[in-house]
Amino acid sequence: MGVGRLTHKTALVTGAGRGIGRGIAVTLAAEGADLFICDMAEELLRETADLVTSYGRRCEQLVVDLSQSDDAEWVVGTAIEMLGCLDVLVNNAGINRDAMLHNMTNEQWDLVLAVDLRAVFLTTRAAARHMRERGSGRIINISSGAWLGNVGQANYAAAKAGVVGLTLTAARELARKGVTANAICPGFIDTAMTRGIPEHVREDVLRRIPMGRPGQPDDVGHLVAFLASDAAGYITGQVIDVSGGYIV
Ligand code: NAD
Repeated sequence: MGVGRLTHKTALVTGAGRGIGRGIAVTLAAEGADLFICDMAEELLRETADLVTSYGRRCEQLVVDLSQSDDAEWVVGTAIEMLGCLDVLVNNAGINRDAMLHNMTNEQWDLVLAVDLRAVFLTTRAAARHMRERGSGRIINISSGAWLGNVGQANYAAAKAGVVGLTLTAARELARKGVTANAICPGFIDTAMTRGIPEHVREDVLRRIPMGRPGQPDDVGHLVAFLASDAAGYITGQVIDVSGGYIV
């Protein structure tokens, strides 16, 4: 395989079974990275691993439910153990359980916060400890344009805003240690998550995207690959939209 921008780098991508996470994993592999991927969907994870290895890259995989207690932390430890070290952490796994605020249940709130924020804290903390010691690293967290607030998504918006605050804090704390931390806010990307929303809402959103099309997982993957590369070493504490100009 040829030499890419991420040759000799190791990366962990959560929620890599499908959608944006799969797009990120494949893009990083195409750039030369060896991967550790995790997801709760075993079959999907295996499909992604096949794609990654088709680029001639190493791909370790772990089936895990990131909503469960401290499993997210254990994922990072396992990745470091299996790959030898971790250069890049991509927190991508995320879910939504939409409801208007007045109807939202405690369960909907707790589950979304567990996966979309608590697990991100646990993996980021574990990676920070490892990367501080090594004096280098990249933390890339997938937030959402919805962090600014979105009807029916109080839980999701709160979690995604939390991810932004966590990322910006990590950026400040780790800057002197050679570690960058950035958040990416996808707009409307064509995945199972957005295919689940009602057709009339989908059409309305599509009309409001200046570029006139939904994003593809690769659109996010390319930014992740850049932020993970040596070329992005002076970029930290940023919140970057990948949205075709769309603002939620
Ligand atoms: P998706 O539902 O297609 O994929 C999410 C993946 O995460 C799945 O493979 C799923 O199995 C995995 N996952 C979910 N819960 C998990 C858990 N508890 N433990 C382990 N794995 C789990 O979603 P997507 O559209 O690809 O979204 C990926 C990320 O991008 C999410 O964080 C999402 O919030 C964010 N995002 C997506 C969009 C969009 O338009 N699709 C927009 C903004 C932000």
